Amino acid sequence: MTDKKLIGVDLGGTTCKFAILTADGEIQQRWSIDTNILDEGSHIIPDIIASIQDHLKLYNMVASDFQGIGMGTPGTVDLEKGTVIGAYNLNWKTLQHPKRDIEKATGIPFYVDNDVNVAAMGEQWKGAGDKSQNVTLVALGTGIGGGIIADGHLLHGIAGSAGEVGHVTVDPDGYECTCGKRGCLETVASATGVVRVARDMAEEFAGDSKLKQILDDGDDISSKIVFECAEEGDKLALMIVDKVAYYLGLGLGNIGNMLNPEYILIGGGVSAAGDFLLSRVDKYFAQFVFPNVRNTTHLRLATLGNTAGVIGAASLAR
Ligand SMILES: [Zn+2]
Repeated sequence: MTDKKLIGVDLGGTTCKFAILTADGEIQQRWSIDTNILDEGSHIIPDIIASIQDHLKLYNMVASDFQGIGMGTPGTVDLEKGTVIGAYNLNWKTLQHPKRDIEKATGIPFYVDNDVNVAAMGEQWKGAGDKSQNVTLVALGTGIGGGIIADGHLLHGIAGSAGEVGHVTVDPDGYECTCGKRGCLETVASATGVVRVARDMAEEFAGDSKLKQILDDGDDISSKIVFECAEEGDKLALMIVDKVAYYLGLGLGNIGNMLNPEYILIGGGVSAAGDFLLSRVDKYFAQFVFPNVRNTTHLRLATLGNTAGVIGAASLAR
């Protein structure tokens, strides 16, 4: 094993996080910058280059101290060419060349992959995935993303869409999704999905409920408020959480039946609901998987939080 260091870059729509790690994945330095998406995102790559160069100078480090730079990004990634397209939250509508530009400017080998894939690698390497060769990460955020490591390989599919767990159909007659089809898991189990389910169930609910009161008053709610009310025993909120857990159990059950991973990890903002959510999802998961999967595939909460991205990105450069 080399003692050269790794750089991990986690590029997101509002911030870009960086870390310098040892070859075995210990974070030594961390910092972040705002992502400037103006002018079709044309400042993003130059800003990343400048930030890396500034920090290497600050820490008295040079290119030869590093094995490589890895980056996780939204959008569709061409792994070999190191290009990205269609990252709309970065304003990247046209083909971007992070590999070409960053290697040229820094002299350090550069690797890029999709952000959720990279987070899955991070959790597998240093988080709840426990270095297992079979790990699926499902990230419950504003939308739902997924990353699949099967028999030790990160899956990409023919066009980079392997692991799009958010668009697994759980209700053929369900809500319309941003992707254009109906009943995708993310329409009911993402942060925005939970709120949508809550609003609809509140309309039909007649009993006593603090959550219903909040909605009837015209106040905004979040998935966090729904889970908080449920933990306090609010009847409506408990019904909503049960419905969300049902859909997650169904969606994740199908992943279990198809891939039989050792761990399906639940991450992202909604997973802050913790064991309260996990135990309910687990109940339905057990219902929707067949015995061998029930006995060998385990649901777990992701543990790295927002460092999964930089750690997983750095692992691309190993
Ligand atoms: Zn969809």
